[in-house]
Amino acid sequence: MKGDWSGGRDSGLVLALADALGRETRRSWRIMEVCGGQTHAFMRFGLGDILPTGLELIHGPGCPVCVTSVGAIDAVIGLAARPEVTVCTFGDMLRVPGTRGDLLTAKARGGDVRIYYSPMQALEWARTEPGREVMVFAVGFETTAPSYALLLDRAMREGVHNLSVLSALVLVPPVLRHLWKDGSRSRVEGLLAPGHVCAVTGFEEYEALAREIRIPVAVTGFEPVELMSGLLACVRLMERGESGVVNAYPRVVQREGNRRARALLEDVFRVERRYLRGIGWIESGGWGLSETHARFDAQERFGLDLCHAAADVQCISGRILQGLAKPLECPVFGTACTPERPLGPTMVSSEGACAAYYRYGVPGGRS
Ligand code: SF4
Repeated sequence: MKGDWSGGRDSGLVLALADALGRETRRSWRIMEVCGGQTHAFMRFGLGDILPTGLELIHGPGCPVCVTSVGAIDAVIGLAARPEVTVCTFGDMLRVPGTRGDLLTAKARGGDVRIYYSPMQALEWARTEPGREVMVFAVGFETTAPSYALLLDRAMREGVHNLSVLSALVLVPPVLRHLWKDGSRSRVEGLLAPGHVCAVTGFEEYEALAREIRIPVAVTGFEPVELMSGLLACVRLMERGESGVVNAYPRVVQREGNRRARALLEDVFRVERRYLRGIGWIESGGWGLSETHARFDAQERFGLDLCHAAADVQCISGRILQGLAKPLECPVFGTACTPERPLGPTMVSSEGACAAYYRYGVPGGRS
């Protein structure tokens, strides 16, 4: 085991959970940790080394930077070349390659590309620079969406006119449904659902998903104790041959989620199709701007035509995000592709599986 062990990192408790997993895992199981943050936590704390031999972790699609479409990145790079436009987004997005380079290169060419730590900073830029068009590249899952909803709500109330949003926001359950139709069914027997997503949305939709695809789901946090508790809860359901949802993250997640955040999201956004990099179109897979907030839609304002046809030539990140391959199966992992010179999104993002393997190594050679 690696890292600092206290609280949710109590080593005694983690080892006790590992013992219980060892006793209760009677056959081989494959469990998908949906969120890239969970992948990194498993590897950062070396938890793969203490799992029973038969328990295999499959990495899931939960990296918003990784699934953001090349078409959206290209469109934003195009906007960054316009002298009146300020493009702003989270720092991870700057090095994700599109077909015309990346946003870091666009910035080096003189584009006004800014990084924020909270989307609300964009509102401040729009207020203080009324002569500029401030365009927010909104990337994230249900976890991040409330911060964009708050931004749009505030901009609407203040009557801000020079702010717009290109939404690449993604909804997790439709993506999981899609993966099941598309091949993951044969590889994954249990799911660790992302606890931070469920903190916003609750887990009623995961209950419906568990019924539909007949699979056990454990809502799981990100600390070692929470991850091991989630695995144990999932294994117990699998060993009993049951599906359904167990909330293994009760200190943060309630079944109905955060009602205020959900109400705001429903007001500001509407559900729409979303194209995911390496995966394809997902019905009802994203949030676009609702009719009431349509005047902030960057796609409309700038007449953006997102071309989703382009794909990475060598990169297998699409297969990795679908749980169909692991980073070491990529022939250029760690050679032509490194965090310093990434060829694909799963090596760029702080939540990407390739970045996790590169940074932490492969626990027991099997995680
Ligand atoms: S190692 Fe690089 S090229 Fe290979 S799958 Fe990962 S990001 Fe793509």
